[in-house]
Amino acid sequence: MLPRTDLLALSVEDLAALANRGLLKRAEREVQSDPPPYTLRTQSDGTIEVVWTDGAICTLPPATPLDERLCSCAATTICRHLVGAVLAYQRQSDHPEEPAAAWDPGQIEDAQIERYFRKTALAQARQQFAAGQLIELVRGNKPMARFHTLAHTVRYPVPGDLAYARCDCAESPPCRHALLGVWAFRCLAADQTAGLVETGEPLPVPGMLLDEMEKVLVELLAVGIAGCSAALAARLRRLAAACEQAELVWPAEVVLELLQEQERYAAHDARFCATLALDCLAELCIRSDAIRSHTGAVPQRFVRGTTSDRVSDRVGVRLVGLGLGVILRPKSVRLVSYLQDADSGEVVGVLREFADTTRPFAELARTPVVKDISLAALAAGQLVTRGGKYTPERQFLPGRAPAALNPQSYEWETLVRPPGRADDFAELRAHLATLPPAPLRSRRLGTSFHILAVAGIEDVHFSTVDQAVQAVLRDTQGQSALLVHPFTSRNREGTEALLARLAQGPPRFVAGPVRVAASQVVIEPVALVFENGRRSLLQPWIDTSTADSLPDALSAAPAAPPADPLRSFLDQAWEALAELLVIGLDRADELTLRRWRALGEYGAALGLVRALSCLEQFIAALEARQHRLDWQVKQAIEPLLAFAVFIYMARQTFSSSG
Ligand SMILES: [Zn+2]
Ligand SMILES: [Zn+2]
Repeated sequence: MLPRTDLLALSVEDLAALANRGLLKRAEREVQSDPPPYTLRTQSDGTIEVVWTDGAICTLPPATPLDERLCSCAATTICRHLVGAVLAYQRQSDHPEEPAAAWDPGQIEDAQIERYFRKTALAQARQQFAAGQLIELVRGNKPMARFHTLAHTVRYPVPGDLAYARCDCAESPPCRHALLGVWAFRCLAADQTAGLVETGEPLPVPGMLLDEMEKVLVELLAVGIAGCSAALAARLRRLAAACEQAELVWPAEVVLELLQEQERYAAHDARFCATLALDCLAELCIRSDAIRSHTGAVPQRFVRGTTSDRVSDRVGVRLVGLGLGVILRPKSVRLVSYLQDADSGEVVGVLREFADTTRPFAELARTPVVKDISLAALAAGQLVTRGGKYTPERQFLPGRAPAALNPQSYEWETLVRPPGRADDFAELRAHLATLPPAPLRSRRLGTSFHILAVAGIEDVHFSTVDQAVQAVLRDTQGQSALLVHPFTSRNREGTEALLARLAQGPPRFVAGPVRVAASQVVIEPVALVFENGRRSLLQPWIDTSTADSLPDALSAAPAAPPADPLRSFLDQAWEALAELLVIGLDRADELTLRRWRALGEYGAALGLVRALSCLEQFIAALEARQHRLDWQVKQAIEPLLAFAVFIYMARQTFSSSG
C-alpha cells in the first residue's frame, strides 16, 4: 500500500499552524508515552484510523484535508487527537524524513480542482483572478503564493495535493486563494523559482494627469520651494487628490510628502529637509515614467498602489509589538513602533518624527502615542483598541476609542505568521529578489520588515570600521543572514546590551527591516527574543539595562569611513540639486553655475559618462541663459531631471549594497 505522503509531509510547524502550539505539545507527549494511549490501523484504501483510549476515534481518509469532523470528539476545531493521529502515523511509518523535493502547484490538475470547487465557486474565482491581482510566487519544497492585492498568503506543504494548501484567511481549506494561487503558478515562466505575476487587463495610462504632474513639478523647480506661492501649493494639493482618485495611491502619497516639506519650509520648521523634498521629486519622476511607459518590467500595481492600499478604518484591533526602530533622516529622526495586526498578519507602525536633537533614543521613545502609552511600551506589548485608521503606508492612527496595553509572552512562532516570519533565509532572499527597487515598490511600512526564526549564531563582534555590532545568524537549514546594528552615541546602552546577549548564544527571533546586500540577507534588528527559562525582549535602539562593561571597542574613536570618490560625488550632486530645488532655477546665478561646473569637472575626473552628459547639457542651458533672450527654463529642466533621477538611482544602489 502506498504511504500517506500527505500526512508524512506535514512538519511540526505545519501542525502547529493547523492547531496551536499548546495542543501540539500535548499531542507529542501523548504519542510518546508508554504504553501508547491509542491503536492505529491502516485500511486497504489508505484510510488511517486511530482509536484513543479516551474513546475518541480519528478517521483520516486519503485526499481529505485535516478537519475537526474527522475526529469523533466534541471539539469544534482541530483537536489534539487529530494532531496526535498524524504524529502517530509519522512515528510508525519507517519512512525516514527525506527533504521534500521542490514542486510547482501549477501542476495540480483541473480534475483535482473540480473535486473541491463547485462550478459557481470556480466561475467566481475566475472573475476575481481576471479582475487584476498581483501575486508573488515562490516554487520550492513548500511553495508559496502571496497576494499583494488581497493581503493573503497561501502555502502548499504537501506536493501535488491541493487539500493541504494553507491560507491565512478564514475560509475552510482549500480556500479560494489556494485555487487562485494554482492558476498564478501556471502563469509563471517554467524556469523561474520565484517571481511576480500580475493578472487582468492592463491599466489605462492616465496621460493627462501625468502631464499635469510634470507641469507642476517643472513649475516648482523653476520658482523653488522658497518661491512656492499659495496658488502653487494649492495646485500640488489638487494634484494629490487627482492622483488618489485615479488610483495612483503611491504617487499621491509622495506628492503629499513633498507638500509637507514645502509647508515645513514655510513654517520655519527645523525638520525641513531639502534632500528629502528632492527624494520625493525624483521618486515622482520615476513612478510617472514607469506608469507612462508601461513596459511590464515592474507590475503597475506596485508602481501605482491599489485600492487595498488606501486609508482604511479598523474596528477592534489587536496589535502585537515587534520592537522599536529608528530611522535617521538628515534633519530629524523617526521612531517607529512596529506592530503586527493580529487579524491580517500585516506589519504596521506607529510613527513619530522628532527634530534632530542629541537626546538618546530611549528618551524620545518615552513619548506617549496612544492615550498614555509610550512608543517604547507599545513596541514591547500588545495593544487592544476598539478602533483606529490605517494610512496607505500602514501607519496606525489611534482614534478616540478606549485602548489597553497588555503584556505579551513573545511566542512569535504562533503569534507571527509567515511570510512576516521567515523560517527559511533562502526563501526570504528569493522573496526580496522579486521586489523592484524602492522607488517603484509598495510604500507600506512592513514591505521589507521580517521576523527571522534563528537556530544558531556565529562571529559576534563589534566592527570598529563600520561602528556596528555584527553577527552571522543561521536558520535550521544552516543558511545564513547577517545581523547589523549601527552604534551611535544615542543608543550606546542598547548596543552594549545587544553585544553582551549575543555573545551568550543565539536569540530565538530577530525582527527588523531586511535587505539584500552582496546576495546576503541583512537584518537591522529592532527587537530580539531571547529564551532563558522564560522569554525576554531586547530592543537595541532603546534598551537601557546597564550591561557588564564591554570591550573598549565602543569607546574607540569611530574610524573615518574610507573616502569613496564616487559616493562623495553622488552626495555633492544631491546637495547641489537640493539647493537648486530650494532656491529655484529662476534664481540660479553665476555662483550656482560655478558650483555646477566644479561638479562637472569632478564627475569627468571620475570618468562618469551617462550622468555627465545630462549634467553638461544642464550647464550649457544655464550658460545659454546669459546670452539668449528666448531662453526658457524648460531647456534646463529636462537634463536636470534626467540627472536627478540618475543620481537618485545610483544613491539607492549604493545604500542598499552598503
Ligand atoms: Zn478529537
Ligand atoms: Zn484563503
